[in-house]
Amino acid sequence: MRQWVTVLGATGSIGISTLDVIARHPDRYQVYALTANTRVEALADLCRIHLPRYAVVGSEVAAERLLALLPGQDISVLVGESGCCEVAAAADVDAVMAAIVGAAGLNPTLAAARAGKKVLLANKEALVMAGGLFMDAIRDSGATLLPIDSEHNAIFQCLPPAPRGSLESAGVRGILLTASGGPLRQFTPSQMKTVSPAQAVAHPNWSMGQKISVDSATLMNKGLELIEACWLFDVDDSNIEVVVHPQSVIHSMVEYIDGSVLAQLGNPDMRTPIAYGLAWPERIDAGVSRLDIIATARLDFESPDEKKFPCLPLARQAWAAGGTASAVLNAANEIAVAEFLAGRLPFMGIPAVIEEVLVAATIEEPIDLAVIQAADGWARQQAARAALAYSVRFQAS
Ligand code: NAD
Ligand code: MG
Repeated sequence: MRQWVTVLGATGSIGISTLDVIARHPDRYQVYALTANTRVEALADLCRIHLPRYAVVGSEVAAERLLALLPGQDISVLVGESGCCEVAAAADVDAVMAAIVGAAGLNPTLAAARAGKKVLLANKEALVMAGGLFMDAIRDSGATLLPIDSEHNAIFQCLPPAPRGSLESAGVRGILLTASGGPLRQFTPSQMKTVSPAQAVAHPNWSMGQKISVDSATLMNKGLELIEACWLFDVDDSNIEVVVHPQSVIHSMVEYIDGSVLAQLGNPDMRTPIAYGLAWPERIDAGVSRLDIIATARLDFESPDEKKFPCLPLARQAWAAGGTASAVLNAANEIAVAEFLAGRLPFMGIPAVIEEVLVAATIEEPIDLAVIQAADGWARQQAARAALAYSVRFQAS
């Protein structure tokens, strides 16, 4: 039986890689729905190749344009977040790739979780914002959650087959979460003051969307991943050590009480974790070139420089504060990164803005989505204001 797959965020970096793997296995997978926001031409190209039953775009205007680009094709076009939620939860769907970037992915990803789907989670921001609600939805619906983020996929591959919450009794001592260190790893503090958007998105090992590329440059990506790992594997951040490993060949490790450390290695290509998630517990060809261990020759490791990259300790702080603090952290980061990419906020303004917002936030118990969305909205407003003030101060100095 072929599995029906919905790809949320089909036009993005993860979406394209997912469709590449799916196209290699027409005997296993068929595309149920593809979603995009504004890139209608790119989505139309994907619809011609993958022949989904549904496509979802961000606006009515975009929907009309998409239909005009697909004359004669048997496809239904839906609009906006409600459309994304519909194709994530539809009865015929077996698996959902959650690859919308940022908070915009929360509701569609949650819809897939509530509908009991196999959820392939790339959209880490959903878990950072609403980890408790999200994990409850997975448990209550009997959904299967498979981490696609390369580090979490590696950890998942190295963990023992123990029930949630019992890693310690299964002999796990801790998790080593690897980080490439990003494009600015060797920048001096004074070079950090003048980082341009082009420098920040020039990741040495991975080709990714713009937002996660900036997150990799600030190390906020590792901070978000730390929180993601705490929710996914039901561990505390004290059990997770962040290790900078510039070659990005080891994608993370699990340490056991007997002294064993298991690592997952491979070329840095997201099609490996995507294929693992799609086929789990089986293995399929992902189109990824073999790891040449001789050419790799050496693997380096160092501790992260938390002074130079304050976003990492800020994420730890948010996790320790609990409640809506992680949602505040995520929202402030999304605004600060967007302002930086638009050329309105200097690079070091990103952690400064996040810290200011986090310090001012009233942390609430995230009892429902409304509380989380209120915290998210408040943090976005505060971050926009703080970013403007920072830029004015920066220009005056
Ligand atoms: P991207 O920017 O390349 O693509 C984002 C996708 O989301 C696009 O299809 C876009 O149309 C859609 N989108 C954006 N805003 C939207 C909105 N408001 N409503 C609906 N759709 C919207 O991003 P990416 O690099 O593919 O990353 C996607 C997610 O996967 C992120 O959460 C990221 O952290 C995570 N992730 C990515 C990688 C990677 O290698 N790219 C690795 C690990 C995790
Ligand atoms: Mg990652």
